[in-house]
Amino acid sequence: MPLRHYVPLYQWIDGARLSGDGRQTSSVTNPFDGSILAEMPHATDADLAAALESSQRAFKQWRKVPAWERAAIILRAAELIRVRIERFAEILTLEVGKPLAEARMEMGLTIESIVWAGEEAKRIYGRTVESRLPHGRAIISREPIGPVAAFAPWNAPALLTGRKIAAALAAGCSMIIKPSEETPGSGLMIAEAFADAGLPAGVLNVVLGDPAHISATLIASPIIRKVSFTGPTPVGQQLAALAARQVTAVTMELGGHAPVIVCDDADIDMAVESSVANKFFMAGASCISPTRFYIQDAVYDAFVEKFTVAASAIKVGDGFDAETVMGPLANDRRLAAMERLIADAVEHGGTITTGGKRIGNTGLLFEPTVLTGVPDTAQIMNDEPFGPVAILSCFSDIDDAIAKANRLPFGLAAYAFTTNTQQAQRLSGELESGMIGINTYYFGMPEAPFGGVKQSGYGSENGTEGIDAYLVTKFTNQA
Ligand code: NAD
Repeated sequence: MPLRHYVPLYQWIDGARLSGDGRQTSSVTNPFDGSILAEMPHATDADLAAALESSQRAFKQWRKVPAWERAAIILRAAELIRVRIERFAEILTLEVGKPLAEARMEMGLTIESIVWAGEEAKRIYGRTVESRLPHGRAIISREPIGPVAAFAPWNAPALLTGRKIAAALAAGCSMIIKPSEETPGSGLMIAEAFADAGLPAGVLNVVLGDPAHISATLIASPIIRKVSFTGPTPVGQQLAALAARQVTAVTMELGGHAPVIVCDDADIDMAVESSVANKFFMAGASCISPTRFYIQDAVYDAFVEKFTVAASAIKVGDGFDAETVMGPLANDRRLAAMERLIADAVEHGGTITTGGKRIGNTGLLFEPTVLTGVPDTAQIMNDEPFGPVAILSCFSDIDDAIAKANRLPFGLAAYAFTTNTQQAQRLSGELESGMIGINTYYFGMPEAPFGGVKQSGYGSENGTEGIDAYLVTKFTNQA
C-alpha cells in the first residue's frame, strides 16, 4: 500500500501560515488504526485578535469587489478542488475514515456547492417599490451582513467548510472558519484552493484549536455579524446564547433523529435497498441519517428480515480498501455512545437482529446494527445515535406513525415510503421537519435549502436561502 501523507497544519491568518512559536498542540488521529496523523497548533489569543482585525479590514474591501469578480474567484477555487480531488479524498479518508468512494462523492458535492454559490453571487437582487413622494425613489437593496464566524463539524468536513465559505464569499462577506479539531486538514485544503484562486488575504481566515475558547472569543467580538454553526444541538444552544448578547445573526444546523414511515403499499425491496444504503452511509454519522423506522404491520416482518440481511452483508473496514462500504466510527466519543445506547436499548427489552459491537480492539470499526422492539423510553429512541444503528418498529395506524415520528424535539429530515399519492401529500404536510423525502433519501443538493426546525436549528444552507443567510436588507427612501 502506498504511504499516505497528511497535510501540515497551521493557523491561516491574513494570508500567513502560523504554527510553532510555542503554540499549544493536540493530536489529529486516524480513526481506522488510531495512528497520529499530525499535531494541530492551537490559535493563541493574539491569533484570534489578528484574525478578527484582518477579517474586518478585508470585509471592507471584499464587499466592494463586483459580484462577477467574486464569482470568478469562487468558481476558480471550485476548479482547483476538482483538479486536486484525489488528494482531497485521501485526506478525508485519513482523518474521518470514510471509504475513498464516499470521500470522492463528498468532494463532488463540495465542488457543486461552491459552483452553485459562485453562480448565485451574480444573482443577488434588490428591488424598487413605488415611492409615496413626488419624484422620489424607494429602493430595497441587499448587502453583505459583515464578517462571519463559522464552525464546521467532522462528519463531512470538506463539504461543510466549502459550502459555508462559498456562500459567505458570494454574498460579499469575509469569514473566519474553525474546522473541527478532528478534521482540520480538509478545511485547510479548501482554504488553500481559495487562496490559489486569487482570494485576497484576510477575506478567509482559518483558525484551529480549542472549540469553546475560539467560539467564545470570536462570537463575543462586535466585529462578527453572523455565526454559522453545524454540530450538536447543545453546542448550538450555547453559541446562539453567546450570539444573542451582541444581537448577532445565526444559522444553526444541529442534530436530528430522522424518522422513516414505511407504508404497506410501498415498494418494499426499493425501500430496504435505499434505507440500508443511506443508514450506513458515513457510518451513520450524518444529521439526516434515517434512524427510527416505523413500518406498517403487514410488511413489518419482511422489512425486518430483508433489512437485517442487507445490513449484515455490509463490508466494514479500511477506507482505502476498494471493497469497503463502511469505514470506522470517527472518534472515541461515537464508540462510547454506540456501546452505551445499544446496551441501554437491550436493557429496555430491545433485540439486536444483527451487529451490536465493536470489531477488533484497535481502531474504531463497528458492526452495522439493527434493533427491534425498542420502547420509546430507551435512550436511543430519544438521543441521536449518530452512528451505524437502525431501530425498526411497527405501526398499524398512520396517525399513530405520524405522532411517533413527530414525538421528538428534533425536525431535520423525515422520510416516508408509499405509492399512494394522497398519503404522500398528507405525510409531507404533517411531518414536522425541515426536509421531507418521499420514496427517496436524496438531500444536500446545492440548489435546494438544507435546514431544520424545532431543536434541529434554524436558517438554511444551500439554495437561494443559503446566500440570503449572509445578506441584510436596506431600504433607501429618497425624496
Ligand atoms: P460533541 O459534543 O463532542 O461536539 C463536537 C463538535 O462540536 C466538534 O466539531 C467541535 O469542534 C464542536 N464544538 C464543541 N464545543 C464547541 C464550542 N463550544 N464551540 C464551537 N464548536 C464546538 O459531539 P460529537 O460526539 O462530535 O458529535 C455528536 C453529535 O454532534 C451528534 O449528536 C450530532 O447531532 C452532532 N453533529 C451534527 C452534525 C450536523 O451535520 N448537523 C455534524 C456533526 C455532529
